[in-house]
Amino acid sequence: MKLSEITKVYGNGSLQVPVLHGIDLSVEDGEFIAIMGPSGSGKSTLMNIIGFLDYPTAGTFELNGENISSAKEKQLALLRNKHIGFVFQQFFLLPRLNALKNVEAPLIYAGVPKRERTERAIQMLEKVGLGDRMKHLPNQLSGGQKQRVAIARALVNNPTLILADEPTGALDSKTSAQIMELLVQLNQEGKTVIIVTHEEEIADYTDRIINLKDGKIIDDRRTRP
Ligand code: ADP
Ligand code: ADP
Repeated sequence: MKLSEITKVYGNGSLQVPVLHGIDLSVEDGEFIAIMGPSGSGKSTLMNIIGFLDYPTAGTFELNGENISSAKEKQLALLRNKHIGFVFQQFFLLPRLNALKNVEAPLIYAGVPKRERTERAIQMLEKVGLGDRMKHLPNQLSGGQKQRVAIARALVNNPTLILADEPTGALDSKTSAQIMELLVQLNQEGKTVIIVTHEEEIADYTDRIINLKDGKIIDDRRTRP
């Protein structure tokens, strides 16, 4: 994907909040990227634009060589469901549904038949190491286990891109390391992974660190050759 001269201004009229200024960013398939920067620097806003959750105010967005800057919400929703898995700091699991049902949920929206839904959800939970916790409710799981369920849910539609906003923000350092190892594994299997993090030790798991400040990219470096 290629973002060129992306600008984001919230609000309108006299109450305008400029948040991103002329962001240029190319991401190749299979990259593993950390977006860092102080609170308020625009990290979440940039992730939301990359994830088609929000529109830029100006600039162009190319996906597979196609300019989708002026795509309608309906088309963006399709792209989102087909290509992107989202992971958040606060997990956002449905509290009354067990792990299996939480992972199945996106497949209901995608119209996948019941039997296949269950099979795919089981497969994803096994992949994240939770084959023995499928019938547990979220509040019967540890933080790390909840995040694994959320990652299984993000994977169940077989996305090409995983967007994770502070995926380890609510976890202790040992659990955070385990979650990062899982993201490393998914990246090695071919997923493009982009995370937002405050922590250098977390960013060190990735191959490329992009630093934002006041809505601009001030540094973009590879961490390995
Ligand atoms: P708008 O409709 O003005 O483009 P949004 O729909 O993005 O704005 O957000 C609605 C309102 O919520 C905004 O006017 C803004 O004041 C407020 N808001 C939402 N998130 C934030 C935030 N992180 N910081 C400050 N204000 C926020
Ligand atoms: P970060 O993720 O780096 O903390 P954000 O992208 O959440 O930064 O926010 C960047 C700036 O944009 C902040 O000053 C925030 O208050 C503002 N902001 C975010 N969302 C909105 C919104 N919907 N309306 C108005 N201001 C917003």
